[in-house]
Amino acid sequence: MLGVSMKASLAELRRQPHTSIAQLRMFLHCPRQYRLKYMDRVQPSFRPIAMVFGSVWHETVDKYLLGAGPEEMRELFRGGLEAAVKTNAPPVLFDEDEDLGQMIDLGVRMIGVFVERVPRPKRVLGVEVDFLLEVADPSTGEMLPVPLVGAIDAVVSTSGRKAVWEFKTAARKWSAPMLQYDLQPTAYAMAARKVFGKVQVVLVVATKTKKPDIQMEHLSRGKADERDLAATVVSVLRGIKAGMDHPVRGSQCVSCPFAWRCR
Ligand code: SF4
Repeated sequence: MLGVSMKASLAELRRQPHTSIAQLRMFLHCPRQYRLKYMDRVQPSFRPIAMVFGSVWHETVDKYLLGAGPEEMRELFRGGLEAAVKTNAPPVLFDEDEDLGQMIDLGVRMIGVFVERVPRPKRVLGVEVDFLLEVADPSTGEMLPVPLVGAIDAVVSTSGRKAVWEFKTAARKWSAPMLQYDLQPTAYAMAARKVFGKVQVVLVVATKTKKPDIQMEHLSRGKADERDLAATVVSVLRGIKAGMDHPVRGSQCVSCPFAWRCR
């Protein structure tokens, strides 16, 4: 159902027609938002702080896997977030009662908990491992015209067992249905297995709560999940091709960077 290649860089892979988990999620969330961002290439009016924070967190955690200690991580995070917020790009939108200093403090506290609770793996086989999955329609077996591309946060080996580690920051811990059905771990498990053999997917969620916490979950994904992923890709691509771009109005519109071009 899914073939895989990990030879090219993500930038190279993204130069050719493709889809991604982020694109699928956005289309499922609001087809209008998908059209504005990926087809009309509308400039977002702001960057949500959660997105900027998550991206700097990833860079910091990558360095932890490669040997950085807590002090170095704190410096990296502090400098990274300051630079990302001040960069010459759409302005960062903070949530109510939040500012850069508070977010840096939060990140620094999260690093303390992360280092305490997430043991550094014995071997790191890859960090930011780019992949390309060829997807076939599960009902016809026909290959789809565009592949699914992405990057796995890390592939590690502990006690001789290989695992994909996926890092997230979130306002709260992931719920049981998210752990069971989220499409991203399915794609990562498929991609990594083809290259590294049998792998487990480990989700590491750092919560941005007053008292930061770590949720470390070993996820299982099987054939039914792979069929769901392929069926979702097929259906979303059909919807895009058919011109489906209806708005989905709701609370998400308040924090939508494309709202200024939606109506
Ligand atoms: S403003 Fe709402 S309906 Fe419009 S693109 Fe954004 S999320 Fe979708």
